Amino acid sequence: MIQPAAILKKDRDKPVRQRHHWIFSGAVQSLPDFEDGDILPVLSHDGEFLGSAYFNRKSSIVGRMLSFDETPPLEAVGLRLAGALELRKKFVEPVTNAERLVNGEGDGLPGLIVDCYGDMLVLQVATLGMDKLKPVVLEHLIGALKPRSIYEKSDLPTRGEEGLSDFEGLLYGEDCGSVEISEAGLRFLVEVRGAQKTGFYLDLRESRCLVRTLAKDRRVLNCFCYTGGFSVAALAGGAAAVDSVDSSGPAVSLARRNLSLNGFPEAGNRFVVADVFEYLRRDGPLYDFIILDPPAFAKKKTDVIPACRGYKDINRLALRKAGRGSLLLTLCCSHFVDEPLFQKVVFQAAAESGREVRIIQRHRLAFDHPVNVYHPESEYLKGFLLYVR
Ligand code: SAH
Repeated sequence: MIQPAAILKKDRDKPVRQRHHWIFSGAVQSLPDFEDGDILPVLSHDGEFLGSAYFNRKSSIVGRMLSFDETPPLEAVGLRLAGALELRKKFVEPVTNAERLVNGEGDGLPGLIVDCYGDMLVLQVATLGMDKLKPVVLEHLIGALKPRSIYEKSDLPTRGEEGLSDFEGLLYGEDCGSVEISEAGLRFLVEVRGAQKTGFYLDLRESRCLVRTLAKDRRVLNCFCYTGGFSVAALAGGAAAVDSVDSSGPAVSLARRNLSLNGFPEAGNRFVVADVFEYLRRDGPLYDFIILDPPAFAKKKTDVIPACRGYKDINRLALRKAGRGSLLLTLCCSHFVDEPLFQKVVFQAAAESGREVRIIQRHRLAFDHPVNVYHPESEYLKGFLLYVR
């Protein structure tokens, strides 16, 4: 019996041959009868076997590759999960018990994010195909890690395109409230429920480390502080004082708790619930170290121009608050604004502010956010450490 398979168009199979995970609908010549979310073999137009992918007709990315060889797809998922855990064990776990265990295509597992906070795992599922694979993923994670709890927090705007609604809830084990994690000897409370992303910005670990190294005796302003990761890192590095600003009251409360959890006094360290754009326009002191980590201003491609205006404005306003010889760590997590474009935005902000500005470091990936060389689209975070005179 001939197995039903997806057949790619002539001359449209190059990305798959080059181990790119996505198959766009325009590249497909024919699909058999199947249920959305099912796994199918993928063949070239002349019948050559190229691997296996899960498919969903509702999405413009109609297929996502799970294996590029004869390995049965469920086995491939298990092997990739094991590979992802091995990488973290070697490079991340000596420093922290909070890490991204699976970084989607970066780990060869399209549609899946798994974050680990101590003995709690948090899953984020972006696609129908991965949703159907959840039992396999859970079995593997439970077997390998024996977690106390697995929680799912799948509230991504892209799920709609997959025909999935948002989902949040306990999948396994105990229903933990907040969990305490430790990173480079620092303690943080993470509240997963109702949080942004899965609760803590694991992708900023290297940046927190950088801030800690450079903060000594500096007066620090942490804009968009969320739960205070950079504020705690700066104080651990000997900052003279830290002002933390965010528009979310609950986030600022958690930032405050994280400071005291690490034994830093409230006195001298201010917490401000405010719009950063408005805060930076207020009269006030100059700072020796400013951290700017705004949310993604461009959520889709058509947002890029207004988003760049926003990034330029906020960087220009921050430069006005930067003392002579100060540092500005400026980050951008918009997928659609790439590093060269972000550098242009920083150039414009610098030119308008009339300050002398030098890039002295670029953002460094955290080890648990690997970028797949065959699928570079998964990279989104960029940033510069600027020296301002
Ligand atoms: N730097 C943080 C992560 C930032 S997440 C960390 O280290 O964990 C983005 C944060 O920006 C959120 O906490 C959100 O509440 C806040 N935010 C969004 N728009 C804002 C605005 N206009 N002014 C102040 N804060 C804002």
